[in-house]
Amino acid sequence: MAREDNLPSRRSYERAFKQFAEDVGSDWASMEGELTRTYTDPYNPGPADEFIPQGVVFPASVEEVQAVVKTANKYEIPIWPVSAGKNLTYGGPSPRMKGTVTVDLKRINRVLEVDDELAYCVVEPGVSFFDLHEYLQKNGHQDLMPSVPGPGWGSIIGNGLERGAGQHPYGEMIASSYGFEVVLPNGELMRTGMAAMTGAKTAHLHPFGFGPDVHGLFAQSNMGIVTKMGRWLYQRPEVVMCVDMHFDNEDDYIKIVDAVRPLRMEGTILTMAGLYNLTLQASLFTTRKQWYEGDGPVPPEILQKMKTELGLSEWQLNFALYGTEEQVEAHWKRVQERFKDIPHRADPRPYRKGDVVMHPGDQHQNGIPNMALFGWLNWKESGVHADFSPISPATGSDAKEVYETVKGIAYKWGFDCILSLGVENRFMRQIFLVLFNRYDEEEKRKARLMFEEMIQEYAKRGWGENRTHLAFMDSVAQAYDFNDNALLRFQQQIKDSLDPNGILAPGKSGIWPERFREDA
Ligand code: ADP
Repeated sequence: MAREDNLPSRRSYERAFKQFAEDVGSDWASMEGELTRTYTDPYNPGPADEFIPQGVVFPASVEEVQAVVKTANKYEIPIWPVSAGKNLTYGGPSPRMKGTVTVDLKRINRVLEVDDELAYCVVEPGVSFFDLHEYLQKNGHQDLMPSVPGPGWGSIIGNGLERGAGQHPYGEMIASSYGFEVVLPNGELMRTGMAAMTGAKTAHLHPFGFGPDVHGLFAQSNMGIVTKMGRWLYQRPEVVMCVDMHFDNEDDYIKIVDAVRPLRMEGTILTMAGLYNLTLQASLFTTRKQWYEGDGPVPPEILQKMKTELGLSEWQLNFALYGTEEQVEAHWKRVQERFKDIPHRADPRPYRKGDVVMHPGDQHQNGIPNMALFGWLNWKESGVHADFSPISPATGSDAKEVYETVKGIAYKWGFDCILSLGVENRFMRQIFLVLFNRYDEEEKRKARLMFEEMIQEYAKRGWGENRTHLAFMDSVAQAYDFNDNALLRFQQQIKDSLDPNGILAPGKSGIWPERFREDA
C-alpha cells in the first residue's frame, strides 16, 4: 500500500481547513491554489511538484501553533513546520510527503531578549539572520556578533535546527543554542534544559539542565515545533583578522589539512577553515559558458586558463583570527610558521571596531549576513544545486581519499567537481555542490542517480552525510545501518510514543510514524 493511501479523505481536509481558518484567521489558512505552489522546492532534483504541500497555515502566536497541532490531530492531517522556509538545497519550504500541510511560522517573529553582558539572544521562529542583525544594530548591541550561515535570509531557529554551520567561533550553531520552547505533537508546551524551571535565571546559559538532555531530539527531527530558542553570540574582540591563503599545487590540500587541524585543535584558529577548489572559486563570479560550452566537466586545460586569467589558485584557504592586537599577531605568526614549507600567498585583512566590512566572506566572519553565495547559481544556466554534505576525519590522508572519490564520481557522471572542505578540529565538512540546470530533465535524473551512488559509496568508506535534501532522507537514514538500523528504530519508537497519530513532519530525516511506515 502506498503511503498516501493512509492520508485522510478530502472531506477531512476540508473540515480541517475550516478549523485551521478558525485557529489562525481566515486570511491565514489556504488549501491548494497558487499560494500552495509557492511552497514547492525550486531546487528539487526531480519533478517540480514532487514535494508539494496540500496547503499552508500561518499561526501568529504560540497558542495558535498549539491550536493548529490540535486540529491536525483531530483530523489526522500531517503538518510540516518551517521558520523562514529558505532551506534551499535541502528541500526549501517543502514537506517530505504529499498531503502534508505547511505550517509557516514567519508571523511569530520577535527578538525576545538580548543580553550584552552574557552575550546571548532569545528569538522566535520568524527571526531571520538579517532581522537579528538589524535588531542588534538599531538597539545598541553592535558588539554582539551572531554566527551567520551562507545566505542571511534563513531563520535562526530553522537553520539552527537543521544544524547549519557558519565561519565564526560559534559556527556549529546548534552547539550554542540552548533553552528551547517546544510545542509537542500532542499540542502541549514544553521547555528544555534549564528553561524547564519556571523563572530560571540560566534558561539559555547552561547547556543541559537536569536529567537526560533532550535539545538534540528537536534538531533535524519531527518530534516538536520549536517556538523559542536561545542562541549565544560572540562579543566582538579588538581585532577580527580574516585571512585568505592561496596554494598553486593541486596536491597541496593534503598538507594544508594536516597543517590546519592542529591550529584548530589548539585554539589558534577558532573558526571552521574553508578550503575551496579552483572550480568553486571560479563558479562564484563567472559562468561556465564563459570558459567552456562542451558537455561533461570543464577539462583540465580550461581550468588552468581560468586560474591564470582570473588570478585564482588551486586551493583557497579561508579562516579568521579573533582576539586582542597581541593575540592576533601571535596567532598569525603561529599560522605562518605552520605553513612555511607549503608555498602560498597570503592576504590577511584585519578589522577593528567601527571598520566597514565590504568583502562578503569577511562579513560572515564579522557576524554580518549577506546573500553573496548565490553567485554559484550563475555557473550553469538556470542553475540550482543539491549539496552532498558528508563528514570525514580532518586528516590529509582522509582528504585525499575524499577528493579522489568525489572527483571520480562527479567526472564519471559528467559533472564539475565544485568542492568545499570545511576543516574543523577533528572532522571535516565536505560540501560537493551538485549544480544542475533546473529545466534539464536528463541532467536532473543524472544528478539524482549520482547523489544516490555517492551516499552508498561514502557509506562503504565510513563517511556519513550530516544533512540532506528531502529526496535522499530515506537513503541517508538507511546508511546509518549498525545493528539493523538500531538508531532509526529507536528514533521511530520515540516518534510513535510522542506522535501516535503521526501528524508531525512524516518522513523528516527518514523517520516515519507507524501510520506511514511502508514496512509497518
Ligand atoms: P531556514 O530558516 O534556513 O529557511 P526552514 O525554515 O526552511 O529553514 O527550516 C528548515 C527545516 O527545519 C524545515 O524543513 C523543518 O524540517 C525544520 N524546522 C524549521 N523550523 C522549525 C521549527 N520551528 N520547529 C521544528 N522544526 C523546524
